[in-house]
Amino acid sequence: MASLLIRDSTTELTSFPCLKLRDDLEDLSVPNDNSVPQNRRFFPRSSVKRLCTEGWISSALHCCCLKCREHRQTAQRPPNSPYYYAAIIGENKSSRCDSGRVGILFALCVCSECPSLIYSFIDKGITDDYFENHMSQFTASNIRQKYWSSIHPRYSERFHWNKYRFATPFLKKILFDEYPSEIILPFLKESRLGKQNKHGEIEDEGSYGKVFAFEILDEYFAIPVGHEFCALHQVQLMTIS
Ligand SMILES: [Zn+2]
Ligand SMILES: [Zn+2]
Repeated sequence: MASLLIRDSTTELTSFPCLKLRDDLEDLSVPNDNSVPQNRRFFPRSSVKRLCTEGWISSALHCCCLKCREHRQTAQRPPNSPYYYAAIIGENKSSRCDSGRVGILFALCVCSECPSLIYSFIDKGITDDYFENHMSQFTASNIRQKYWSSIHPRYSERFHWNKYRFATPFLKKILFDEYPSEIILPFLKESRLGKQNKHGEIEDEGSYGKVFAFEILDEYFAIPVGHEFCALHQVQLMTIS
């Protein structure tokens, strides 16, 4: 008689609270569409802000799993320090972080399975604003050189590959804009435009190449009413539907 050992996923998550928190976060990513790869789904800022309460921060900083305990030991920061909580929520007035919160960066650290990485960013005065405006500096090797030399490369690499999901730009310019391919735009329901051939496939029309229509997530839409928006992204022309 063969016997099967089935691992209970609920037990797994209780012994790794940080993974449960990461999954809660992942549930917020959009578009909620299984045809979009996970690394091309983004985290709306408003959802991250709502999730990032004192309780959530505390659970992440106090995770009892072996990996988090090791990270805390290396980081040598008191996980109860009100200073770090205030910085993550954005209430530090007296510190070098008074220019802004680090809630987005903290969520990115949780997503990278290394909540303790946030301490070094806070100590160096890095804020969400700074991160969003200097994203190219946050490469895997820079994370290790500048912020945490003893971090295992797997965490700094996760940080690097996930960072674009947390830094979706607001669409402000009208008429036309151009974006590098790594940037994730705040689009939902992308659909290809063109004429249908006899096999039911969409073919390009005109000389623009592939043209896509989409909807923009409301909180990222800062284009004056009545104006058109067009963007070139990953050699695709995007246009408001
Ligand atoms: Zn953990
Ligand atoms: Zn700057």
